[in-house]
Amino acid sequence: MRAAVLHGFGDLRVEEVADPEPGVGEVVVDVACVQPSVTECMLVAGDRVALHQHLADALAAGPTRFGGHEFCGIVRSVGPDVRHARPGDQVTAVETITCGRCAACRNGRSDACVAPQFIGFTRPGALAEQVVVPESCLVPVPPGVSAAAGAAIQPLAGAIHAHALAAVQPGETVLVIGAGVMGLLAVQVARYGNAGLVAVSGRSPAKLALASRFGADLVVDASTGHDGVLAAVRDATGGVGVDVVVETAGGSPEVGLAGTGTLDLAARCVRRGGRIVMVSVLPEQAPAPLGLLRERCVSLLHPRSGAGGYSPSGGVFAHALRLVARGDVDVESLITHRLTGVDLIPEAVAITRDKSTYGAINPAQVDLTAAGGLSWNC
Ligand SMILES: [Zn+2]
Repeated sequence: MRAAVLHGFGDLRVEEVADPEPGVGEVVVDVACVQPSVTECMLVAGDRVALHQHLADALAAGPTRFGGHEFCGIVRSVGPDVRHARPGDQVTAVETITCGRCAACRNGRSDACVAPQFIGFTRPGALAEQVVVPESCLVPVPPGVSAAAGAAIQPLAGAIHAHALAAVQPGETVLVIGAGVMGLLAVQVARYGNAGLVAVSGRSPAKLALASRFGADLVVDASTGHDGVLAAVRDATGGVGVDVVVETAGGSPEVGLAGTGTLDLAARCVRRGGRIVMVSVLPEQAPAPLGLLRERCVSLLHPRSGAGGYSPSGGVFAHALRLVARGDVDVESLITHRLTGVDLIPEAVAITRDKSTYGAINPAQVDLTAAGGLSWNC
């Protein structure tokens, strides 16, 4: 099969590799649609975030498969001891594979697993024609949900995690900083949840128009600067500030993100005693206005990722897919760039790495169901 292989930071190539075989408890999935995550694109470029050192060590030993945990596909074959999955099932997968053996896993805190594996990071992912995943990670994609929407479900799960962490009480006011894919998903989740006033700040008129369509009560042009956003928020809340800020805009200005000052903006827009949920992926040593947060008694929260079950009856991925299937959340309108054929994976990474230049909202998707072809539709 063909798969993306990283030869060095910034040097991603599509090459022939061996077809994968499923091990015990594993399935092979024919990838129908995949999107590189923003974090993956940062890591490919060599940015020092998340698993940078792990990737640097792997590259020191030679070219390595990397990326591809946001995908949707069809089960092709199943290995020994697979209990439920069958060839032909449409599935996506949760990227984190907990070990099940460490002290955290044994004590029911698998989200603190000390030896997790990650699809696309510590084992080959779906930037390829086929991907092998443990059956335990599979999430069925219900009828009526497209492969494109299935591949885009992980960011929605992230937005749901953020909303759940903020514990938004009925009628509470929410400001979403940033109108990119995470911001626009946060707006929809807040609206569908029990928020009162939902405000959003962003720089793109087209994205702010989408936010209005998704039910935002107040859209603020962020090009007015932090003072302009703060003034609009104070005006809308009687000078109090919002109960919850969901920060999604921070990151490198080189790729169109808003720098690290968005946390300071969040700290000024939130009410005394309010909560800030940090969705952005910032450098390890990003500055933080800790004195301001302390003085204003503000809680700074970081959402979990992955399946993260909040009840015994279901995981966040399955819930997110149901929201899409029912039409409660619209992810397809956020998909601006669709490429066709496995060979265009590096182009999808380049677009996703620099979304503002390309006018992309969701990461660029690659459709692997169409034969060859170098067409792309934007
Ligand atoms: Zn563990």
